[in-house]
Amino acid sequence: MQQRFSSQFLGMNSIVIYRGNAGYLIDPGVFPSEIERIDRFLQRQKIDNITLLLTHTHGDHISGWYFFRHFPAFGHESIAQKSKTVRENDVKYLQSMWRKRGIENTDYLIFPDNLQFVADGEVLAIPPFSFVIYQVPGHSIDMSVIIIPEQHLMFSGDMLIDVPAPFVLHSVKKYRESLKRIAALVKQYDVRYLVPGHREPAHSRQEIVKRIEKEQSYLQELVGKGIRLAEKGLDRDGLKHALYETFPQYARLHSHQVNVQTLLRELNE
Ligand SMILES: [Zn+2]
Repeated sequence: MQQRFSSQFLGMNSIVIYRGNAGYLIDPGVFPSEIERIDRFLQRQKIDNITLLLTHTHGDHISGWYFFRHFPAFGHESIAQKSKTVRENDVKYLQSMWRKRGIENTDYLIFPDNLQFVADGEVLAIPPFSFVIYQVPGHSIDMSVIIIPEQHLMFSGDMLIDVPAPFVLHSVKKYRESLKRIAALVKQYDVRYLVPGHREPAHSRQEIVKRIEKEQSYLQELVGKGIRLAEKGLDRDGLKHALYETFPQYARLHSHQVNVQTLLRELNE
């Protein structure tokens, strides 16, 4: 059985997947009222054997961790690679999200400090099912997919969201490699249901493959144009604006602009 909670913050998805009194709670809530709603659901369903799973540690995905921190919590081992500065930024972002909602005291929000790190591809059998986590860096360094093999279920974090363009903060090159990795995992585990970190799930293998291909073709075009324009000898600013504008359908999208900046950083290296 599963229950999805959609946050007012960009439709962030929190999921409870459960059987009897045992359940996984994935990326639990953003704002206090949403966290309380999840908690009430758990109490109503008498789910008390709870395991927290995090797809990655951006502010919106770790917000509810504090409230549920007395339960065991798991995340991919790559979270350990995040520098102190990056962690502090994640928390600052989270605190500013809460303050924008009129919540003054956010001092107690901290970076999760009780996470048990899971090795890539290691299967953990913890009631009610077993799960496995794979690193798929690109959106962030610690981005990971969580798979529940028995349920043919994948949680893809901030990838494969049903929006016009993906959101690549860390590395375009790694994001593209990760899309290949996800495509292989979808096959290997016969994934039939995908819940991304925000907005609507994909309900069939066909829809999942379509989302992968859509992100692949956008990034292929972006990289191809970036390389061609760079060869013409444009400077960084010229390149940036040319890339914004060669995609008129995305020109005003914040995500596209971030993707261009990530790509330019990598072309420079
Ligand atoms: Zn994120």
